[in-house]
Amino acid sequence: MIIQLENNIKTTDLERLRNSLDAVQYQCTEVNTQFQKYIIGVGKKEFDIRAIGTLPGIQDIHRVSDAYKLVSKKWRVDDSIVDLGNDVKIGTNHFQIMAGPCSIESEAQIESTLAHLLENNIKIMRGGVYKPRSSPYSFRGLGQEGLVLWAKKAKEVGIKIITEVMMTDQIDAMLPYVDIFQVGARNSQNFNLLDALGKVDKPVMLKRGISGTINELLQAAEYIFSNGNEKIMLCERGIRSYETAYRNTLDINAIPILKEKSHLPVIVDPSHGIGLRKHVTSVAMAGVIAGADAVIMEVHSNPAKAFSDGQQTLDYSESKRAFKGLIDCYQLRERL
Ligand code: PEP
Ligand code: MN
Repeated sequence: MIIQLENNIKTTDLERLRNSLDAVQYQCTEVNTQFQKYIIGVGKKEFDIRAIGTLPGIQDIHRVSDAYKLVSKKWRVDDSIVDLGNDVKIGTNHFQIMAGPCSIESEAQIESTLAHLLENNIKIMRGGVYKPRSSPYSFRGLGQEGLVLWAKKAKEVGIKIITEVMMTDQIDAMLPYVDIFQVGARNSQNFNLLDALGKVDKPVMLKRGISGTINELLQAAEYIFSNGNEKIMLCERGIRSYETAYRNTLDINAIPILKEKSHLPVIVDPSHGIGLRKHVTSVAMAGVIAGADAVIMEVHSNPAKAFSDGQQTLDYSESKRAFKGLIDCYQLRERL
């Protein structure tokens, strides 16, 4: 059960509410986000919720029986829109493309990518400065120094940035520079990291775990929300299956299902999804048709020389065509 409280609820009214829920043996958790106060009640007993809904200081009350609650669509009529400022929004009716290299490599690469994005009217650049690599001998990223340089250059031209945070210790230093924190597939159920990201006022894009179910992804998002941060996006990036003909099994089905189950924006990552350059564009287009609110894709001036994931990265002419195709698909979907 979700109880939306008036932001200025009196302590005595809150106390009365707690007592009423105690009386029906409901366990309560208080959640204060950047937007609103809530009480999450978990219990078994059937009772008439109207008796609680009419108490002073209460805005609304909803029954939500799923394991995840605040991220569920069952109580929130309007989908959530993540607002990055300067009129850059992601969510239902606010389609975006995020593009850039797998890894941030150099100043020249940052400048070249930004110029390419500007030329194509793309508002968000992706790039890793902390790279989770399968081998410890692979390039692990330029770290905080790379982030500071990149953020400065991007800000100068009005482009937002999304980058992966791998550890709670990195959050404070990264916070002033990032526009969106990315939680990678390998950290999808790192509950300490999710708790910590719930305490900052910055959007978070949470990727589905390598073997994560849709339910687990939604419960991971619930960690962030219940710690106070409502600015969350869910990302389908492919899961591990028995198939070995491509990098991951991009679960297109997850896109409409997530949109149905949650009010959060849903993003598709075709690059890690299929992992094969020549198929990235068509798979991304399929994701958009299936209902994705944004696409995140890997782009590099010379993918053969990319420090990581070159095999799934589009060059500038391929990505130019892809961006156009994605916008066409979005417009087609809107007309259907
Ligand atoms: C990435 O976006 O570069 C990345 C490492 O993604 P994932 O966590 O999906 O593997
Ligand atoms: Mn990558």
